[in-house]
Amino acid sequence: MQQDFLIIGGGVVGMAVAYGLLRAGCRVTVLDGSDDSLRASRGNAGLTWVQGKGAGMPAYAELSFEASLAWPDFAAELEERTGLDLEYEHRGGVDLCFNQEEAEARQREYSAIQSTSPYLARQFRWQYLDRTSLASYLPGLGEGVHGGTWSPHDGHCNPLYLLRALFSANLGLGLDYRPGCEVHLLTPLMNGFRAATTHGTYEAERLILAAGLGSAALAPMLGLSGAVRPVRGQVLVTERLQKIAQLPTPQIRQTASGAYLIGDIQEEVGFDRGVTLPIMQQLADRAVRIFPFLAHARLVRSWGALRVMTPDGHPLYEASRQYPGAYGLSSHSGISLAAFHAGRLAESILQDSLNHEYAKFSGARFSRSALNP
Ligand SMILES: Cc1cc2nc3c(=O)[nH]c(=O)nc-3n(C[C@H](O)[C@H](O)[C@H](O)COP(=O)(O)OP(=O)(O)OC[C@H]3O[C@@H](n4cnc5c(N)ncnc54)[C@H](O)[C@@H]3O)c2cc1C
Repeated sequence: MQQDFLIIGGGVVGMAVAYGLLRAGCRVTVLDGSDDSLRASRGNAGLTWVQGKGAGMPAYAELSFEASLAWPDFAAELEERTGLDLEYEHRGGVDLCFNQEEAEARQREYSAIQSTSPYLARQFRWQYLDRTSLASYLPGLGEGVHGGTWSPHDGHCNPLYLLRALFSANLGLGLDYRPGCEVHLLTPLMNGFRAATTHGTYEAERLILAAGLGSAALAPMLGLSGAVRPVRGQVLVTERLQKIAQLPTPQIRQTASGAYLIGDIQEEVGFDRGVTLPIMQQLADRAVRIFPFLAHARLVRSWGALRVMTPDGHPLYEASRQYPGAYGLSSHSGISLAAFHAGRLAESILQDSLNHEYAKFSGARFSRSALNP
């Protein structure tokens, strides 16, 4: 039976789930904000990352693996449908360490992740490599780097091309996309939901809230958790340089165009999405420490963007118990998990089994009683 969905939010989370639902034959309307909205999907680093994910929550580590395994087919299918190149590469990645203490802490953390489930013990492959051993993965690596953890599960893509491909594929599958429709009120009805927006009202049988930081205000209207807060990142981009066969790192990666994208800073500064000189200086200094050959590279762009962060940093997926048919989705790894969001997560929403299959990701873990048992 064809089902109607309203999705609030046309970022990478809303659009990936929309893709999964449209492919399954659903009718989907996406209500989205405007160019001045907070939009993490347009300001991120483009990593499809696994290593380190799920410390303290094995279910999240397993989900990150699932997404990484699904990404190659997901990318190939999107590229075939749209003719767009996502610049997706899945050749592994390295997370750098700058001193012995950091190296030891990292190895303890990854061993702990591996020990939390038989699946992770089997699947999670990583190795700590010193600076010399890393040289073949990261030619030109500077002496200020101690080493880093290498893992074959990581990758990267162009996140703007991913979003564009999702838009293009979804429109081709019949998506009704409504930009500039800021939702200010959500009302449960007898057989569905109504969204009141700056440009009219919309109704559907089921509703998915994927409004990034906008979910905080809207979630309580549907009995969902809106436990997300902004965490700022600042990013620097160099001019295009000669392409080198290099693995991506969270600190810096060379994009398909040859430009280096720099930045893994996390700042608690509320809703300020500006850039600051001290942080840009810190990022540039560290980039040169990693790759001394960047000392003479020109910086051509910088921006600040706000992460959509839950209290424990893990995703939030839940179906409203109070208003069946309403779902809340938030994730601080919307690129890494895109293949999962378009695949199994969309299926689970379609079958209304979200709370059953992904109970550990419910917002109930942030309730007062869960935090202070
Ligand atoms: C600097 C930085 C680096 C990052 N690097 C990575 C990375 O390397 N890999 C990775 O996996 N993730 C990364 N992330 C995180 C990733 O960008 C996010 O997880 C993802 O973009 C979240 O997508 P979203 O759709 O939930 O939110 P958003 O992209 O913020 O989209 C929310 C949408 O909802 C709309 N909206 C909001 N309120 C309303 C409303 N009331 N009515 C209608 N529409 C509304 C907005 O207009 C917007 O389009 C990074 C984030 C940042 C900031």
